[in-house]
Amino acid sequence: MKLSISDLKTYKTSGEFETNTYVFTIDGITYVVDPGIGAGKYLDGVKCDVILTHGHYDHIAGLSEIEYEKVYISPEDSEALTDPSINLSLFFDTQFSLDLDWYNLDKYFNTVFAPGHTKGSRIVLFEGVIFTGDVVFSNSIGRVDLYIDENEKAKMREEMKKTIYSLRNFFKTLPQDWYICPGHGEIVTIKRLFELNPFFK
Ligand SMILES: [Zn+2]
Repeated sequence: MKLSISDLKTYKTSGEFETNTYVFTIDGITYVVDPGIGAGKYLDGVKCDVILTHGHYDHIAGLSEIEYEKVYISPEDSEALTDPSINLSLFFDTQFSLDLDWYNLDKYFNTVFAPGHTKGSRIVLFEGVIFTGDVVFSNSIGRVDLYIDENEKAKMREEMKKTIYSLRNFFKTLPQDWYICPGHGEIVTIKRLFELNPFFK
């Protein structure tokens, strides 16, 4: 699916986390990527389909504020929807969990498996725009120290290394004027990412 950056709206949600929530419409369907807390006020009454790059609280907690039809997430991260210790809300003010029917993101969208920040993180590709969640930011990469278990932490650090290595090669093969839309921070072109991000040099 083709998506132009000018057709994309970006909202900051989840307060101090400043999660990027993206909204766009293709073929009459409004999609929301990563609805953080407060997403509801930007989508007043609009029915939408929801794409989740991963299952962390600051990217999913807006689900309870919006009218959604379908929610797409990776199978590995789907348990975060109902488990406050996995979506990390347990460690914040509120314990978020939402029992809903989710759809396998990989079956409906062009995705890249990108474990490390979470075990089921995905890069979601449209022609022209790439949603990178908390895996790749304009000038950095996502944290891998959010696991409680030390073994898990070490494993995820390795996973993240592999993920970034393969993404670096993959992004080189794409048109360099496509946009990287991360879960936090600024939107940049792939070309700019290679200039700015030390992990992509
Ligand atoms: Zn995250």
